[in-house]
Amino acid sequence: MRNVTVKSSVPFTTAQKKRLEEGLRPRYGEDADFFYTVDDKVFGVIVEDGETVVEYDVVSLIKAFRKQSESLVDERFAAAGELPSMWTKELVDALRPTPTTVQCGRVIAGADGILTVVGLPDCRYYELLEVGRGRYAIAMNLLTDCVKAMLITGKDGVEYGALVKGTGKIVEVPVGKGLLGRVVNPLGKPIDGDEGLFFDKVRPIESPAPKIIDREKVSRPLMTGILAIDSMVPIGKGQRELIIGDRQTGKTSIAVDAIINQRDKDVVCIYVAIGQRAGSVTKLISKLKSSDAMKNTVLVVSTADDNAALQYIAPYTGCAMAEEFMEQGKDVLIVYDDLTKHANAYRTISLLLKRPSGREAYPGDVFYIHSRLLERSAQLSAKKGGGSITALPIIETQAGDISQYIPTNVISITDGQIYLESELFHSGVRPAVNVGLSVSRVGGSAQYPAIRKLSSKLRLDLAHFRELALFTQFGSEVDDDTKRILEQGEKVTTILTQKEGEPFGVDKEAIYLYMIGGKLSDVDKSEVKKYIEGFYSYFCSIDYASIRELKKTGVMTDEIRSALDDAARDYATAYAKKK
Ligand code: ATP
Ligand code: MG
Repeated sequence: MRNVTVKSSVPFTTAQKKRLEEGLRPRYGEDADFFYTVDDKVFGVIVEDGETVVEYDVVSLIKAFRKQSESLVDERFAAAGELPSMWTKELVDALRPTPTTVQCGRVIAGADGILTVVGLPDCRYYELLEVGRGRYAIAMNLLTDCVKAMLITGKDGVEYGALVKGTGKIVEVPVGKGLLGRVVNPLGKPIDGDEGLFFDKVRPIESPAPKIIDREKVSRPLMTGILAIDSMVPIGKGQRELIIGDRQTGKTSIAVDAIINQRDKDVVCIYVAIGQRAGSVTKLISKLKSSDAMKNTVLVVSTADDNAALQYIAPYTGCAMAEEFMEQGKDVLIVYDDLTKHANAYRTISLLLKRPSGREAYPGDVFYIHSRLLERSAQLSAKKGGGSITALPIIETQAGDISQYIPTNVISITDGQIYLESELFHSGVRPAVNVGLSVSRVGGSAQYPAIRKLSSKLRLDLAHFRELALFTQFGSEVDDDTKRILEQGEKVTTILTQKEGEPFGVDKEAIYLYMIGGKLSDVDKSEVKKYIEGFYSYFCSIDYASIRELKKTGVMTDEIRSALDDAARDYATAYAKKK
């Protein structure tokens, strides 16, 4: 004998129950016992018998009914005006041939967001499971007798014995331009307090990286507007450049400046906050809003307060959103802030799942969670629309140690790194880029010609200067040559110091680099910054045509160069006179 539960949002009348049971008996057996419950969360009718759950949603009810008798439906609607009265024998008969049967398991244990579920033999790895109604989990461990799943919605406990259904798909999130300017959680739900999200498409958060044949070489620059970076560690569209450094060394600021610099360019930005303090995220949002950079930006936010599962899926969610834009032929900049916390969230989950742990207690596949994420950044070929995803993952180090497990992993996955140093940061060099340890493996070929030409020597010179400065700080006597290098180095360092939130254009960067390359020898160290700023505004005022061309093409033609030579001479003469 079977016990069959029928759930609906409105109670049935006795006559309706009779008709319904007549319709259901062929399926559940003549001796089945029917129980009725009213549940206002149900939309339609649900029939459960402990092994299977059959859902009749309202739309399919109406469709089936329509098929049965067009005229009847109108009549019924008119007569009763509500759904339960539609439960006629005809309707039940119409439904009988096509019920959807879903495999159903039950929760037999749950703790710390990890559920043990029995009775899902066909469950697939990473499948989205519905727990009870409206709560979800992801299948993580498929064992011989049970499935272990991590809860991604809600924090409070799940009851023992709760029904679990496989959905046959993985987590999907809304994508498309409706997201621009919005703040969403890793499941794509808006959390900015504004009205609901407009979207017409969803996308699974995991998908294979673009194939080699669909990719193209990185060849277009992605300007961060930060002189030190665009000149010495340039980033190209489609590149993955790691930002690495200790805590509080300006990592987020660099990424945010890069986002701000895209505000009037045709680049969509996605910022993924992983396990961050809610306060920092609020600050970041107001910074983006005040710089008018929110309009082409999407924020995917998981705070430190969210469970590890949500923190873990956040970057994949952001990447899925980015991929949709890329496939439409757009350029996307995505920031993962930060992957250290992402690895930690994954470690937490893995330990709770009792997976074997390896180095630093991370599970064996911690490399793979980052490589499969970052491989999804690409420059697509023209045939595929020519879109791109540029990724700026962030990693936090401890005491400047880049040889730890997670930093070395991500360094080896990315196409270069921007290494930020605490000491430099505290001595006022901001952004605190250590030029010796920073590198961009593919960005050089994507640089604007003007910037590439003017900055070719800068990196080496600066690295040389930092080395010399280290030696000479003990107060030893130095010769004139060294003195000159030191002085020039100090000047360059001052010029490369840049306030956050004030990105430079290509023209400004090119002119600054032009000045650095030999026009500052007569200027006092303390005045060099003012001097160079003054020169830039002076040149803008006398030759705006050149500025416009530089901005547009990024090429320093001979004409512009000679115009700059003349202007620099005049400016230097005026400066000398004033002195
Ligand atoms: P955390 O480890 O907490 O994530 P972080 O490395 O991301 O820190 P930020 O939050 O970007 O560092 O910056 C730390 C502080 O340094 C902030 O108060 C920021 O305003 C300041 N700062 C960053 N860059 C600059 C800069 N170029 N000029 C002046 N101040 C800066
Ligand atoms: Mg930060």
